[in-house]
Amino acid sequence: MKTLYGADSPQALYDETYENYRRFLNPPLARVMKISGSTIEVRAQGTTIWDHNGKAYLDFAGGYGVFTLGHSHPRVVAAVHAQLELMSLAGKTMFDPLAGRLARELARITPGDLEISFFGNSGTEAVEGALKLARAATKRSKIVATHDAFHGKTLGALSASGRAAFKSAYAPLVPEIVHVPFGDADALAAELDDAAAFIVEPVQGEGGVHVPPLGYLARARELCDRAGALLIADEIQTGLGRCGMPFGCDRDGVVPDVMTLAKGLSGGVVPIGAYIARPSVWNAAYGNAPLMHTSTFGGSPLACAAALAALEVLRDENLIENARLRGEQLLTGACRIVSEYPSVLREARGLGLLVGVELTNEGYGGTIIPEMLKAGVTAAWTLNQQRVIRLEPPLIVAPDEIERALEALRAGVHAAHERLGTLQSDSR
Ligand code: PLP
Repeated sequence: MKTLYGADSPQALYDETYENYRRFLNPPLARVMKISGSTIEVRAQGTTIWDHNGKAYLDFAGGYGVFTLGHSHPRVVAAVHAQLELMSLAGKTMFDPLAGRLARELARITPGDLEISFFGNSGTEAVEGALKLARAATKRSKIVATHDAFHGKTLGALSASGRAAFKSAYAPLVPEIVHVPFGDADALAAELDDAAAFIVEPVQGEGGVHVPPLGYLARARELCDRAGALLIADEIQTGLGRCGMPFGCDRDGVVPDVMTLAKGLSGGVVPIGAYIARPSVWNAAYGNAPLMHTSTFGGSPLACAAALAALEVLRDENLIENARLRGEQLLTGACRIVSEYPSVLREARGLGLLVGVELTNEGYGGTIIPEMLKAGVTAAWTLNQQRVIRLEPPLIVAPDEIERALEALRAGVHAAHERLGTLQSDSR
C-alpha cells in the first residue's frame, strides 16, 4: 500500500527524501538535519505539524515567522481554492483587481501615509525593491544598516545584512553600504550624512532576537529627517501582529518612509513579499517610470487572494491581542527556566511572539532542539546567531500550548545541563 507522497512505507519516504537532499539538494544540510533528529513534515494544520511517522509536533519554529495564522488556515485555503478556479497568475497586460485591493488594504492598515505598494514573491525581493527605491528617490547611494541585521540573501539584501559568514564568499558586495551597532542612535547619527536610507528591523530577529531601547526608532526617524535620508523599516518578521502590535514600529509610534513585509502577509499559504512607500518617496523615484522595478510573478492573484483573506483573519480572530498576551506568558515562562538553569541559559528576551533564548554556549542548542523535537515541539536557531534559540509560534497559539512548549524547553535545557555535568566530571 502506498503512503502519503506515494512511497511504499513511511521509512521508504524518509530514506528517499534524505537521499535526495544528500545528493541533489543540499548535502551538508542533509547531514545537519539528520543529526538534529529532523523527520519529514507531511501535513500541517493550525499549530500542529505531522511527520511521516504520524507523530504530531507543536510548531514553535513557525516557519521562521511565516505561519502567523497557523498552518493552512481554512479561510485562506478557501480563498486560494476559489481564486485557483478563476485564474492563478496574472497576465499583467491588464489590470488585476486583487493586487489593487491588497495595495489599498495595506495602505489602510500600515501607519501614517504609507500608501503605494510593490509586490514580489519573497522577503529578500521586498528588501531589494526598497533599497532600489531609496536610491532612485534620493539620488544618493549610501545605505546604512545594522550589525547582525538580516534582510535576505539576494545580493543587495545580503549586502545590508550583518553576518560576515554569509557574505564573504560573494565579495565585492553592493558598494556604499555601512553598518552601525543596532540600538545605538548616536552611532547612526555619525553615519547618516549623505545617506539614501537607514534600513532597520524594529526587533532584530535573525540577529538573535534583540529588542532595541524604547525610543530608538523615534530617534532614528528624527535623525533621518535631519539628514534627508529615508527610514526603511524591515517588518518582514516583526510586522502584522508578530510583536503583539500591528507593526514593530508602532512601539515607538514611528512612520517609516518605506516598510517591507513578507512572511505572514499571505497567511502562510502562497508566497508574497511587498514594500509600501510614502507617495512622495515613490513618486520621486518612479513618478514617470512605471516599469523601472517589476516582477513577473509578484503579487499574483493567488497570493493576493491569500493575503486579503489572511488580513481579514488577523483582524476577525483578534490575533494581535492574542500575540501580546501569549507573548507575555511565553517570555515569563522562558525567564523562569533561565533562572532555574543559569549554567545553560543566559537570557530570554523578545516582544510579543518573537522570543529568543540565549544559551551560555552555542553547543547546547545541539542538545536542546533535538530534545524538544523528541517532546513533540519544534524550535529553531536564529540565522545570524547560533547561540539563540527562537520560539516563534503562530499567533493563534493557546495558553496550554505555550505551557507545553515551555515544558519541552525545560526538558531540553535539563538534558543540556545534565550533559554539562557529565562533561565536567569526565574532565576531572
Ligand atoms: N528581512 C527579515 C527581517 C527577515 O527576517 C527575513 C527572513 O528571515 C528576510 C528579510 C528575508 O526574507 P526571505 O527569506 O523571504 O527572502
